[in-house]
Amino acid sequence: MPYEGILKEYGHLLDLPAHTLPVALLEGNTPLIPMPRLARELGAAEIFIKYEGLNPTGSFKDRGMTAAISEAVGRGVKTVICASTGNTAASAAAYAARAGLRAVVLIPEGKVAAGKLAGAIAYGAQVIQIEGSFDDALSMVVEITKRTPLALVNSINPYRIEGQKSGAFEICDVLGDAPDWHCLPVGNAGNITAYWAGYQQYAKIKGTRLPQILGVQAAGSAPLVLGHPVEQPETIATAIRIGKPARGEQALEAAEESRGRIIAASDDEILAAQRLLASEGVWVEPASAAGLAGLKAEIEAGKFDPNGKQIVIVCTGHGMKDPGIIADSMPTPKLIPAELGALEKLLGV
Ligand SMILES: *Cc1c(COP(=O)(O)O)cnc(C)c1O
Repeated sequence: MPYEGILKEYGHLLDLPAHTLPVALLEGNTPLIPMPRLARELGAAEIFIKYEGLNPTGSFKDRGMTAAISEAVGRGVKTVICASTGNTAASAAAYAARAGLRAVVLIPEGKVAAGKLAGAIAYGAQVIQIEGSFDDALSMVVEITKRTPLALVNSINPYRIEGQKSGAFEICDVLGDAPDWHCLPVGNAGNITAYWAGYQQYAKIKGTRLPQILGVQAAGSAPLVLGHPVEQPETIATAIRIGKPARGEQALEAAEESRGRIIAASDDEILAAQRLLASEGVWVEPASAAGLAGLKAEIEAGKFDPNGKQIVIVCTGHGMKDPGIIADSMPTPKLIPAELGALEKLLGV
């Protein structure tokens, strides 16, 4: 049977209404890439990257969006709306296009990475910048969907979480069980909520164990670590630049129930983790490197014993989403005459 997407694969395990009409782009089924060099360097038994950048629009958001859009279409919705730091916008735009719906996305002014904005526009969404933060944009879309027939497709939408549980199912299906630790970035906290729900569901129905969860926020936007909202969140990891996570309580519960924790990593640690992943062949956007950044910092501080552990790190979005981060710090490639002699001289061969 050819692969047909997460609703076909795991729909029987997702709590979706009977009116749901599947809209798929063959999302999910992303690789769990072994990272032997990284494991050796950090002293862990095994490390795997769940490479969510290989979803149709380049981030894990597609897992939840296929479910949310499928439900909305089945209910007769004509227009969907979301607030976004970028990846939700691109994903909502793609699935709305697939379903023939109108998509409206609200983004914080000037803070969305080029690859994400371009995606949303390419898929034909109406993109609106607001003079405010992601959190302001989210409040606006929550209000407008209370008053009008527009449907909300942010991760407050419960079907987003249902779809995103598929990531945990896939990891357990590939490994034959849950890992010891599961590390991931935390922004609006939908993904950590979904992974924990997915692992719990599999434990109940398949007898798999429960992983400990390490959630990682960016230090400049770490409300769950500080214990209060952050009014002006700042970080280069724009996908997790969120000061008031919609599912903050559930994220804290996931960390506590799993005997894990939520910590913060600095922008420098995040960029170093991005380079470390790329040095073993996996290029991810900055936010996606937060899971590794946090894990590495914990190990170096002696707060995490990696010895003998099997660790899965979710890398949530593709490096090509945010080319500016690399381009801005990139030396201009050397320019030489189109002559072999010049090339040999430069290479020293
Ligand atoms: C959305 C997103 C996150 C944060 O996920 P939440 O569910 O909001 O916690 C992290 N990384 C990337 C690349 C994202 O697009």
